[in-house]
Amino acid sequence: MTELSTIKGVTKPMQARLSRLGLQTLDDVLLHLPLRYVDETHLTPVRALRIGEQAQVQGEIIHAETQHRPRKALICQLQGDDGGLLHLRFLHFYPSQVAALKPGMRIRAFGEPRSGFFGMEMVHPQCRAARDDVPLSEALTPIYPTTAGLSQPSIRKLVRWALAHGDLSETLPAEVYASLELPTFAESLHLLHNPPPAVDLRALEQRCHPVFKRLAFDELLAQQLSMRLHHARRRAQGAPRLKQLKHLTSALLQSLPFSLTDAQLKVWGEIAQDLAQPHPMQRLLQGDVGSGKTIVSALAALQAVENGWQAAVMAPTEILAEQHFRKMHDWLSPLGIRVAWLTGTQSKSVRQAALDLVASGEAQVVVGTHALFQEQVQFSRLGLAVIDEQHRFGVHQRLALRKKGEQPHQLMMSATPIPRTLAMSYYADLDVSVIDQLPPGRTPVATRLVADSRREEVLTRVREACHQGRQAYWVCPLIEESEALQLKTAMETYELLTASLPELRVGLVHGRMKPVEKQAVMQAFGVNEIQLLVATTVIEVGVDVPNASLMVIEHAERMGLSQLHQLRGRVGRGAAQSACILLYQTPLSETARARLKIIYENTDGFEISRADLQLRGPGEFLGVRQSGVPLLKIADLERDAALLEVARQVADRLLHKSPGLAEAHLARWMGRAQEYVKV
Ligand code: ADP
Ligand code: MG
Repeated sequence: MTELSTIKGVTKPMQARLSRLGLQTLDDVLLHLPLRYVDETHLTPVRALRIGEQAQVQGEIIHAETQHRPRKALICQLQGDDGGLLHLRFLHFYPSQVAALKPGMRIRAFGEPRSGFFGMEMVHPQCRAARDDVPLSEALTPIYPTTAGLSQPSIRKLVRWALAHGDLSETLPAEVYASLELPTFAESLHLLHNPPPAVDLRALEQRCHPVFKRLAFDELLAQQLSMRLHHARRRAQGAPRLKQLKHLTSALLQSLPFSLTDAQLKVWGEIAQDLAQPHPMQRLLQGDVGSGKTIVSALAALQAVENGWQAAVMAPTEILAEQHFRKMHDWLSPLGIRVAWLTGTQSKSVRQAALDLVASGEAQVVVGTHALFQEQVQFSRLGLAVIDEQHRFGVHQRLALRKKGEQPHQLMMSATPIPRTLAMSYYADLDVSVIDQLPPGRTPVATRLVADSRREEVLTRVREACHQGRQAYWVCPLIEESEALQLKTAMETYELLTASLPELRVGLVHGRMKPVEKQAVMQAFGVNEIQLLVATTVIEVGVDVPNASLMVIEHAERMGLSQLHQLRGRVGRGAAQSACILLYQTPLSETARARLKIIYENTDGFEISRADLQLRGPGEFLGVRQSGVPLLKIADLERDAALLEVARQVADRLLHKSPGLAEAHLARWMGRAQEYVKV
């Protein structure tokens, strides 16, 4: 791996700029691909120029003047070598350009002709002196992504140097790229950085040319390899064997008022088996909102407890953690198990008592928020860490919890389904279990899109639902710019609804309330003392009140698709027909309309998150997971899904048959980033 700092001519400031582009090594430079290309390989006679078609012309400046009205502009007239006339117009220009474009100068200009007031013109063409000793370029000119202070010529120079001195050796067995009908690594780089004039430019720029596919494949393969290695490293570590003793788990199953769905039984089987292995489980339990993940995590916790180990359950919000605590307590204490509760907002003495229970091992199960992985928390024997809504936590937070035990097993849960392509790539180091079925007796939630002007009708629906003994949520708009403003809106909405619906018991919950206040409100809502709950998006995840059958979401057009799906999942948990009303402000933008349409037409979380992935790209989707995991720069998961399949198979083969190549491949693609992947 050649660091750029060791290359002569790469100054310190230049290094800093290159590193802003993510370029640290010579390999990085080689893999820094052009955004597009310009064709400076031939000259077009001025008379043959066509409007809208980029071209390069050569000739002499015969007139130049700086205009001041209607706005400042430098206007030159060029007489082509063929005699044709063309205007060049510059709205921003430097004194050096004025000097270079004086009458009598011979220049080459590259730009897009359009029809101007005085006939054909080019606005802001790229100009250079035409010297007969400087030949036309032989290849298309690449235009690279760049940053302030780094010119195209200096990037080009560096890339040329890298192509001449860098490592272009092949890291794939020939039969692999041959069977995919892809070129070699070296060929691909040469073509991408210096495409010959005859190249299929469209294919190149649209990133579907075989040379581009070759690099996309290499990148996906590198990702697969690093995930695979990570997986293998984990399996080499030891973890407590938590055998399937089945006395506590069976007792819990017998005490439940329902029986597990087939899907729950299947994933529970997978988890129970993992826990019995001598290496740490790292499993992601996915299941749509309401599919019943919590009971599965309780069973896993019990398997740890029956083997004499502790289990920790961590949730991202106070409300959710509190709810988990209640459930665990209700399910487990009849079996003689002590469940402790830990949060950052407890009083000192209460907290200390909880910490003591955890440290002595008296509490076999511990539920809490982020507070669980703080330093003072000492477990006696932590055997399993459960992390709910895992995408809400950073890699580091999850890691911190894992460090609380020797090598505890880890169960991550998420209701935001990860599309297949993401699961196969960024999450490939995890084992995945999916609950693909909802418990019986649920009625699908009917979704309605309602313009904000029809609020009155919505109030009527709320009133009706509550009179029938049901309950409703009213979610206030998300105001990203200002939390204070969001709070204000929530208060106002609360007052407005209290006034409009005087016969109903209305409650308010928002992120700024003290935890005890929040708890009190949620508890009151849980037992129907509050009929209508006005809430900010704090209730987005996990809240489970089966009697609530109506969800109203204000300014739905401002929310993310997955967020809307999560919110909608708060209703439809009981047998009553449930509805979700998405209030929107008119007029709707095209994209807002497209997004609302997706949520309206789909009830399947997987479909929704696939659509979300397409709309937003994987960056946001990965949330905090991306810290520490390099994002794909060349490959596109949707476009290159077929390559991803192959990369998976090839990664396995390469690791077994040619570990040397695998290592070289990883070093090229992951470079420094490799160090961060060990999460
Ligand atoms: P999520 O997967 O969204 O976390 P929960 O675990 O909160 O879902 O479960 C939603 C509701 O369904 C809870 O009230 C839970 O007790 C109930 N539930 C879970 N499994 C079943 C089942 N097999 N049959 C009936 N109800 C179930
Ligand atoms: Mg849940």
